[in-house]
Amino acid sequence: MHFRPPTRRLAAGMTVILMTLACENRSSTPAPALADGVAAEDLAARLDRLAPAEIDAPTADLEAWEKIVLERLVRASDVMNEIFLLQVWDGNPGLREALRASDEPWAETAAAYFDVMAGPWDRIEDNEPFLDVGPKPPGAGYYPADLTSADLDAWLEQHPEDREAFTGYFSVLRREHGTLISVPYSAEYAEPLARAATLLREAAEASENASLARYLESRAAAFESDDYFASDVAWMDIEGTRIEPTIGPYEVYEDALRGAKAAFESFVALADSAAAAELDGLKSRMRLLEERLPIEDRYKNLDRGFESPIRVVDVVYTAGDTRAGVQTIAFNLPNDERVRDEKGSKKVMLRNVSRAKFDRILTPIARTVLGETAGAEVRFEPWFTAVLLHELAHGLGPGFVSVDGAEVPVSRALREHNSSLEEAKADVVGLHSLGVLAEEGLFDDAFVRAAYTAHLADLFRSVRFGAEEAHGQAAAMQFGWAWERGAIRLDEERGVFAADPDAYVRANRELAGEILRIQAEGDYAAAGALRESYGVVRPEMAALLPALEDVPVDIRPVYTIVDRMAGWGQGR
Ligand code: ZN
Repeated sequence: MHFRPPTRRLAAGMTVILMTLACENRSSTPAPALADGVAAEDLAARLDRLAPAEIDAPTADLEAWEKIVLERLVRASDVMNEIFLLQVWDGNPGLREALRASDEPWAETAAAYFDVMAGPWDRIEDNEPFLDVGPKPPGAGYYPADLTSADLDAWLEQHPEDREAFTGYFSVLRREHGTLISVPYSAEYAEPLARAATLLREAAEASENASLARYLESRAAAFESDDYFASDVAWMDIEGTRIEPTIGPYEVYEDALRGAKAAFESFVALADSAAAAELDGLKSRMRLLEERLPIEDRYKNLDRGFESPIRVVDVVYTAGDTRAGVQTIAFNLPNDERVRDEKGSKKVMLRNVSRAKFDRILTPIARTVLGETAGAEVRFEPWFTAVLLHELAHGLGPGFVSVDGAEVPVSRALREHNSSLEEAKADVVGLHSLGVLAEEGLFDDAFVRAAYTAHLADLFRSVRFGAEEAHGQAAAMQFGWAWERGAIRLDEERGVFAADPDAYVRANRELAGEILRIQAEGDYAAAGALRESYGVVRPEMAALLPALEDVPVDIRPVYTIVDRMAGWGQGR
């Protein structure tokens, strides 16, 4: 990708370039070396666990202006990558250069892995370093590396006037002459942000869709003002275009010190009308699905809003935070509570990324778990529909319970049990809802059966790395529940699992009923008991997991749009 030199805010940009150079000199990068205990072969093996997958969407019928917008968005995305690398660690650009220049035999593999992980720490191995750089600072590149959370608390105690600036989403903390200062993103990353803003403005100018242009323009302005509110609102209002861009500082996971600082990232995606129509068919039946929940009528939540702003898109490019490590298949934004209050939030499901993971991860798992014949019949569409219904099901069922006369969210009543139960609920209510929609004629029985079968294989995918995390535990719970009721059986001779279709549907409905009742009554004790009995990986399940070791852990996206884009930028 070639960037044109920045034409705006050059003066501000130059100071930052000089500061960055000074910085790099100070910690002048030594020749890169592998971390202790990491061998060159390990690195190659780790890279192999991430299956390369071409990610693309049909672009043949795009109009000329749409191609210009996409081309600018992809280039602006690459700028998000640059900034994110700095947010992870300011030594990253220098180390990357050094890796590229190194003639060590492992340097090429290390550079490839560095690019996947956006730095020298392995995001799939608890952020252990694979290059000899020491442990990752918990505050990433957002804070002085030696600053602890306690230090920061002590500072804020003494300087309450700093609280807002220091704990905001869009600033970094630096030490200057022994004192802590906050530097807004617009200053810290002024030069790259100016380039990104120019690209977004060019895209806005090319756009023939006003809502899209409004988002791109207001986002460019936010890069310069650090005020993202208006552009978050504009993002919620994008309509009437198949281009779905999401670009800017969003998630705070990279800040393991305080969970406060937002990381730059980008999704460039295209929506297609067939997927949208199918999704509308599901969304318009949310009230019916609530009515048909397997729960007493008094617990049904028919007064709630059934607006469910979910979109299904195909990604053509991602960058920054979301590109690093494990690939996202859905996101829900914005995070700003003020926007959520005013406009709600939007969940975006990435269909082609889901498809790539289905092909490279779920399909081989299904063949191992269910056997070659049954495994080969597991199809993408039923599985993806179940995934969509999982997301919609988060919006079904009890939201509040009354505790001592006060209405509190279910999550508060169930406390530490809540996430596992809520994830299990979304799975079982989603599958149950698929049956309801089949009765309505939206799907046939074979489709529903295929969804259950794919889901059974998917339970193994979810527990592959343990049942400590909510999704893994929810999967263990469902397997254990169905197993005890004889709905899933092991063919000892062939070492594969099979579901009794009717019994599996029944067991699924019973578990849905139990979880919904626990949520409706805020039954903390029953929630704990359910997790204790079922929230562990059963031995039958555990025995099969070693056979899944060769299945890729995740995919490594290869964005083919880049190869076609060369001629798209002209025409302004
Ligand atoms: Zn969920």
